[in-house]
Amino acid sequence: AIELRNVTMAYGSRTVLHETDLEVAVGSVVVLIGASGSGKSTLLRCVAGLEQIQHGEILVEGMVTQRGGSAKRERRELARSTAHLRQEVGMVFQHFNLFPHMTALRNVVFPQVKTKGLSKAEATEKARALLKTVGLGDHEGAFPANLSGGQQQRVAIARALALNPRIMLFDEATSALDPELVGEVLTVMRSLANEGMTMLVVTHEMGFAREVADRVVFMDGGRILEEGTPDVIFNNPSQPRTREFLARLL
Ligand code: ATP
Ligand code: MG
Repeated sequence: AIELRNVTMAYGSRTVLHETDLEVAVGSVVVLIGASGSGKSTLLRCVAGLEQIQHGEILVEGMVTQRGGSAKRERRELARSTAHLRQEVGMVFQHFNLFPHMTALRNVVFPQVKTKGLSKAEATEKARALLKTVGLGDHEGAFPANLSGGQQQRVAIARALALNPRIMLFDEATSALDPELVGEVLTVMRSLANEGMTMLVVTHEMGFAREVADRVVFMDGGRILEEGTPDVIFNNPSQPRTREFLARLL
């Protein structure tokens, strides 16, 4: 599970998350929507521990991973005691950031050896199985440059899964893809959701949100303005700003 309690985060003097509360229950899928600059990526980056919050708390699997306003020493201690939890949060970005000089297989093997200290043989076995699950069993020897965007993104998902995350964060994982390649990545995400992965997903794919999300959260200006089931948010939102945002998408 992920829990944000009264989280405020600022870049310098500019506050981009205001007193935000959010809960993603174990095994559930929450989709974050909102205009550009509303703070979606920042929220994900805070959960992943890539940004430091100024106020509030973030809990992962019931343990505090970040506490705003804590002294440097306390922050270090928190970071140390929850380092293993951070590893259980996998993140997939818009740009796949694969290692260009490594094959698909090695891209998935490498982090396991590096972060988990697995033997190369164990890591390779796991990487092969994962590449197969994302439909790339036949492409393990290919370098990123010779894979399509959708294939590269599926390698990136396999790489994140290789570290056995309990939570997956997706930040516009399909936004950089040609339209005909979006489906293959969404299929992988859908099957992860069906297997009970806890997921926090930023996407513009409203079809995916309708079908897969347990809850949809609308962000506006660094605040969560409204949240609810896909049915409520898409068919009967209570906030005018949500209605405006959705109308612009159509
Ligand atoms: P998009 O849909 O365009 O990806 P977003 O909802 O993900 O937008 P964020 O990237 O979280 O929005 O940005 C929220 C705000 O924080 C924006 O005003 C942005 O300019 C600002 N911001 C983001 N990253 C930084 C940074 N590293 N330094 C300073 N300001 C930043
Ligand atoms: Mg973003």
